[in-house]
Amino acid sequence: MNEKKLPTVAYFSMEYGLHSDFKMYAGGLGILAGDYIKGAKDINAPIVAIGIKWKQGYTDQRIDENGKPYDTYHNYVYDFLEDTGVKVTVKVRNTDVVCKVWKTEQFGNSSLYLLDTDIPENGDAWITGQLYGWFGEERIAQEIVLGIGGVKAMRALQIPIDVYHFNEGHAALAATELIREKMCAGKTFEEAWMATREEVVFTTHTPIKEGNETHPLDRLEYMTAYNGLTRDQMERIGGNPFNMTVAGLRLSRISNGVAELHADTSNKMWKEVSGRSEIIGITNAIHTPTWVDERMTAAYEKGGDLWATHMEIKRELIQFIKERSGISLNADNLLIGFSRRAAPYKRSDLIFSQPEIIEPYLESGKVQIVFSGKAHPLDDTGKKIVSNLVSMMKKYPKSVVFLENYDMTIGAQLTRGSDIWLNNPRRPLEASGTSGMKAAMNGVLNCSVLDGWWPEACIDGENGWQIGDGFETTDFEVLDRHDSDALYDTLLNRVLPTYYENRNKWVQMMSKSIETTREAFATKRMLEEYFNKMYIKA
Ligand SMILES: *Cc1c(COP(=O)(O)O)cnc(C)c1O
Repeated sequence: MNEKKLPTVAYFSMEYGLHSDFKMYAGGLGILAGDYIKGAKDINAPIVAIGIKWKQGYTDQRIDENGKPYDTYHNYVYDFLEDTGVKVTVKVRNTDVVCKVWKTEQFGNSSLYLLDTDIPENGDAWITGQLYGWFGEERIAQEIVLGIGGVKAMRALQIPIDVYHFNEGHAALAATELIREKMCAGKTFEEAWMATREEVVFTTHTPIKEGNETHPLDRLEYMTAYNGLTRDQMERIGGNPFNMTVAGLRLSRISNGVAELHADTSNKMWKEVSGRSEIIGITNAIHTPTWVDERMTAAYEKGGDLWATHMEIKRELIQFIKERSGISLNADNLLIGFSRRAAPYKRSDLIFSQPEIIEPYLESGKVQIVFSGKAHPLDDTGKKIVSNLVSMMKKYPKSVVFLENYDMTIGAQLTRGSDIWLNNPRRPLEASGTSGMKAAMNGVLNCSVLDGWWPEACIDGENGWQIGDGFETTDFEVLDRHDSDALYDTLLNRVLPTYYENRNKWVQMMSKSIETTREAFATKRMLEEYFNKMYIKA
């Protein structure tokens, strides 16, 4: 990177996906954060990370004998965390809560500081119990610990910070502490707010308005989340109800969406918000050593046999699926991977939407599909989606598999061993999507709607395929029908003939897929963009 001294960045995130067994993550946001701080370490970027040490992490998903998902929780103990000896105190519901600060660099990541309330001196030990657990009040308590506790931890550890990066709105309360500090030093609220804006940058991830977290001001007040500010000041920052994304936008010098299309969507979505920062696009990326199979990288770089290497990895996936589900897939037939959080807009069942078209292929086994994905514990619609996928596995036992408890291990296996990576969200609701990048760099061909990162990478028919033409409408019935037709057209008229009749073309496409993504969607490119466009002041 740049030779001149880079600013030191404090990166705040509610979750970090660093390793399958380190249960500090729920999904894509955490995977991004984990990859971010591993990538930062690789290039020695001055970034320190702040998060929460979750006792139980996210839910474990199990499927019962009726094919319905249910959630289980376990307490995990990690013996590799370093005790910094530092404790900071925050106020939650007008009571002091002590946060112990742990540190880890265990996964080749830059220093990650994790705040923990599960210590004997607290009555409120529950706060860091469950990632995204429970309801609004608990969430606010967690956000007080992350944001306000996080700033205090930097002070107690005497780490000087130039830029505070809020990865999603969860950390927005950190700014109340930054403002409060400046007011204690004699600034007015206005001056303190403007000075704080100069040191904060914000990343938004959610292109669905309802997905952006809000809290009634009364609830924030009751939880002591104003942190010394007045109701009127809080309302000016986040509105009432207090919207964490709006707050992030008004508390920052500059913001970003996580792909170009997502930045456009976000600017439209928040155009009514006065006094907000501009939202630019910085497309997500992945930490390649974590996600790309070394054998595939070696074959690509040394001109080895991509197909033989792929088949070796595909057979391992098929073995993995057999161990997990008892189902034996056929390595000679096309295998489609699909793993995503079970949310309606991701449409995991789109491929089943016209059974008369797809059924013959599923019955003959010419199309095989492996699914995985969790629903949020409180999301009954998401759970129905999972149940439906499980029922498809029962209906087509030779060719459809659902793997329970999607995690980094499953994610890594599927994105390296499948032939095709399928993604068919309702455009433009997918913010970025990093699983497709993992697939692409492993020579697993993307077959995707033009949403998230894919419009930036797709060369249709050369490094993967586009489904449809970027069509958008808010009439979901029309959109789903349009995309269902487009999915079948791409799959049956273009993907299958290439797979079964033109292996040379397929292998060329694998090579092109790797070539066009391995640098453009790796963390180094992303981090350089964050420094050049966000952290370093123009
Ligand atoms: C890569 C990954 C994600 C993010 O993928 P999306 O494309 O955003 O769905 C989420 N969860 C796990 C376990 C992953 O490995």
